[in-house]
Amino acid sequence: MSALDPEQTRLPQPEPPRQDGDPALNPDIPSPILEVQRLSLWYGDAQALYDISLKVAEKRITAFIGPSGCGKSTLLRCFNRMNDLVEGVTIEGDILFEGSPIYGDARGLDKQALRKRIGMVFQKSNPFPKSIYENVAYGCRIHGVKSRRALDEVVERSLRDAALWDEVRDRLTESALGLSGGQQQRLCIARALAVEPEVILLDEPCSALDPVATAKIEELMLELRKSYTLVIVTHNMQQASRVSDYTAFLYLGRLIEYGHTEKLFIRPLKQQTEDYITGRFG
Ligand code: ADP
Repeated sequence: MSALDPEQTRLPQPEPPRQDGDPALNPDIPSPILEVQRLSLWYGDAQALYDISLKVAEKRITAFIGPSGCGKSTLLRCFNRMNDLVEGVTIEGDILFEGSPIYGDARGLDKQALRKRIGMVFQKSNPFPKSIYENVAYGCRIHGVKSRRALDEVVERSLRDAALWDEVRDRLTESALGLSGGQQQRLCIARALAVEPEVILLDEPCSALDPVATAKIEELMLELRKSYTLVIVTHNMQQASRVSDYTAFLYLGRLIEYGHTEKLFIRPLKQQTEDYITGRFG
């Protein structure tokens, strides 16, 4: 029988596996701010994410772990539609942000507005070649804030919230490029905070930093959790276990296990998770 035989195409197609009810994939999330619904993504013909569903808890830290190339950053970038900037990307499924679909139909959220509410911090700190002050004020300026007093307030608040104010208050007009790597990364966090987002996505924010600078960022993330929802990609399992409340383990574009961090690291429900966290692969 050929693959196109009409008899065969009338046969009931097997349903893709559903995540519903699987305890390894459905931690109890009382107040999700984001809800990934059966999300798949292709770069051209190459599928990078397979049918992923998960809820992100509000004002908590959610970590994505897994070996390199398993789709962690791709999934993270879906939350503020950064993948739309990549040519040839196709997405199926949707993500609800506070109940509204961010993809979906023409009523999908405006991308600029979405990226203001869901900010992003990248692996390599990327301050603009401008002063410390202008780096933080930038987002507000492009959103039309002109008053010097309002900008001064935003810059101070954001730098304080990013635990950087005391180190830079006397050199706000100096170039951001003169800061250390760790300070630059906290500056990028301050820049993200300046436009008052609700969610901050962090893509391997410490991978270029030494242990002392890493500890500062981790401390800062725990502080930010009081007011913001954080989603972090990390290849560092110790980091995930130190800072996150929930951990999602991805492998080859699939969500293998998702749960309370402590539970996932101490008593994983899937063999693959156990093999990965005990260092048997990856
Ligand atoms: P991770 O963050 O877990 O290292 P990624 O999300 O970066 O994984 O990558 C997942 C898969 O998607 C990999 O096979 C990678 O090569 C591919 N990929 C990532 N970004 C792109 C891109 N811009 N264009 C084409 N393929 C990509």
